[in-house]
Amino acid sequence: MNEITESQDQRSAAVSLRGISKLFDDVTAVDSVDLDIGDSEFFALLGPSGCGKTTTLRMIAGLEIPSAGSLQIFGEEVGSLPPNKRPVNTVFQNYALFPHMSVVDNVAFGLKMRKIPKSEISTRVHEAISLVRMTGMEDRRPNQLSGGQQQRVALARALVNRPKVLLLDEPLAALDLKLRQEMQFELKQLQREVGITFVFVTHDQEEALALSDRIGVMNDGRLLQVGTPEEMYDAPIDRFVADFIGRSNFLKATLESAEVVCLANGQRIRVPQVDAVSVGDEVQVSLRPERVMIGDLDSAPHDSAQLSGTVETETFLGNSVVYRVALDWMTIEVEADHRPDVERYHAGDRVDLWWRDDAVAVVRP
Ligand code: ATP
Repeated sequence: MNEITESQDQRSAAVSLRGISKLFDDVTAVDSVDLDIGDSEFFALLGPSGCGKTTTLRMIAGLEIPSAGSLQIFGEEVGSLPPNKRPVNTVFQNYALFPHMSVVDNVAFGLKMRKIPKSEISTRVHEAISLVRMTGMEDRRPNQLSGGQQQRVALARALVNRPKVLLLDEPLAALDLKLRQEMQFELKQLQREVGITFVFVTHDQEEALALSDRIGVMNDGRLLQVGTPEEMYDAPIDRFVADFIGRSNFLKATLESAEVVCLANGQRIRVPQVDAVSVGDEVQVSLRPERVMIGDLDSAPHDSAQLSGTVETETFLGNSVVYRVALDWMTIEVEADHRPDVERYHAGDRVDLWWRDDAVAVVRP
């Protein structure tokens, strides 16, 4: 029964990887990755430099051949197909536009190579240019365009081929912060408009959170966790994921039962149900700084986890204040709102900390 369900899932996935690995000499760039990316999904592969995300994308594109495993696109095994025989297109970080060609000619290039009739080329090129809001700039060359405009041309050039899956390798990395934020918004709009699957590689966690339907976090060639942005932030299962997406405190603990851990100071606290680790295992409790309440135990549920400590430092960030609070067994970072009705603490103050049971996640160390 399970096998049938799995093969049906695989068929409905836009991109399906099973045990995909890639070795370059003695370097394991990608290590046995299993992943299904849904039709029309905006999926981000997120991880630090060298984690294997680009190599994974290049294998989907057909630019690298897997050393092991199976790779399907809409149910078809594509492992041995060259890039131009796959229903995918790639947008690279450096755009790779032809500098001597106009916008129109850049966008039309692939269709001309495929000997598509002229009238169809013209219609499709103008559609694609309009989709990326570049109408009116058809005759410009890349050096007459801003970075954001060049990026749009690169997107139009990929979309004009009507791929079923668009692969994007850090497409916004070359843009300055403000433009990047604008383009993030536009990219998401564009994906909704064209309705195809986008697989997006980035090392920028905020970008991944802002854009994606789901995120896969990679490290050292391995895919550690896949989930919606909220799942990845609220319920990481691995310390690396909790640390890479947002900031976190990590409290050493031992799992005593599915819903109770014993902290390193001997205190028992309740935690959301844990499946990824076994009772008796050493774990870490991930506690986001903004989920820790400081002071005013009156508003704490009577059975909530509570600790006391001394403020070591305070850092004012405008909308919030970050306190480092020394306990006698570790230091905890707390982020409190900066508002007139929220008490402000200073170095040396004794404070109480508390949090709701569901504010924490138990992660693999
Ligand atoms: P970045 O964000 O820096 O591009 P990445 O997460 O995309 O990093 P990859 O480019 O996939 O990582 O590289 C994964 C590992 O494989 C790295 O250790 C890298 O040095 C190695 N690697 C990638 N391509 C090759 C190659 N053609 N030959 C040898 N080693 C390679």
